[in-house]
Amino acid sequence: MSAAPALVFDAVGQPGPRALFERLRPERLAHGYLFHGPAGVGKKTFAQLLAKSLLCEEPKQGVLGYCGRCPSCVRVDAGTHPDLFVSLGTVRMGTGDAGFHEEEELTARDLVRQMSLRSYSGGWRIVILGDVEFATHEAANALLKFLEEPPAQVLMILTTAAPGRLLDTIRSRMIGVRFDPVGSAQIEAFLRARGVDAARARTAAGLAQGDLARALSVVEGGAYADLRQQAAQWLDGALRGAAVESGWVARDNIDAVLREVKRLLRDWLVVRVSGDVRRALVADEGERIAAWPRRDWAGINAAIAAAGEAQGLAATNVPPGFVMDWLRVQLS
Ligand SMILES: [Zn+2]
Repeated sequence: MSAAPALVFDAVGQPGPRALFERLRPERLAHGYLFHGPAGVGKKTFAQLLAKSLLCEEPKQGVLGYCGRCPSCVRVDAGTHPDLFVSLGTVRMGTGDAGFHEEEELTARDLVRQMSLRSYSGGWRIVILGDVEFATHEAANALLKFLEEPPAQVLMILTTAAPGRLLDTIRSRMIGVRFDPVGSAQIEAFLRARGVDAARARTAAGLAQGDLARALSVVEGGAYADLRQQAAQWLDGALRGAAVESGWVARDNIDAVLREVKRLLRDWLVVRVSGDVRRALVADEGERIAAWPRRDWAGINAAIAAAGEAQGLAATNVPPGFVMDWLRVQLS
């Protein structure tokens, strides 16, 4: 007789959301959850692991935990489970004729269809929409209708780094779950467990500022490495009063861009106050920072404050290009 497999739930950090769902009995689950918090802290990963837990065939207490080997878990891992619909890119929900570029588009009709399908296996049906934006009222109304009269055993999870961009009527009908930045010790441990050497793991954890996706990108040299480079070049130009191009900044990266700008400005302050370029968080950036126009610490502090205000603007409906231009004027 073989023992029942151990159930796991391997999200990194996030004790708050974990505790919330650990306490829940499956019959107490709401129909709509809004996972909100900064980019890269694991909202989408958590949503997917929660879905996997709900679909796992292994009996358990509560809602968290999956065996990783039952037919259901295998299908979730393969992306072929018929009761799970996941859309993880930036989703703009429109009417299907607006010609959005480089973004995944889901029409209101798709959404209604996904939410009205019944579970194939007789259990939960789960719809996960990452970084959703409602481009039309039609799409928002489709979601509202679902939230007002939810079909039995259908669960909708939306993730967003900017809950302020969602309609109040949608937000108020969902259970909000806040995700916090992940501790740098946890990020470091996570990277070490993936075989990253100690020095790189520590640098990446420091750079990441609680953003796990960014930490991974630092060690793997992914999209974040390119973004860092672009943000640094933009800041170089802005501080010199040049007419820097900001067309590459969009809704889905502005949060990361501004955090990077703010981090560089903080490094500038550290280098300025200590007079030591080696104090910069990233070794190769000390030289870059040393070449910036001279400012006193009050001027640098004002620049950091302006970057913070820009972050606030970016979390509203102000277009990214406008936010970057506003910040450029403050910095020059
Ligand atoms: Zn399973």
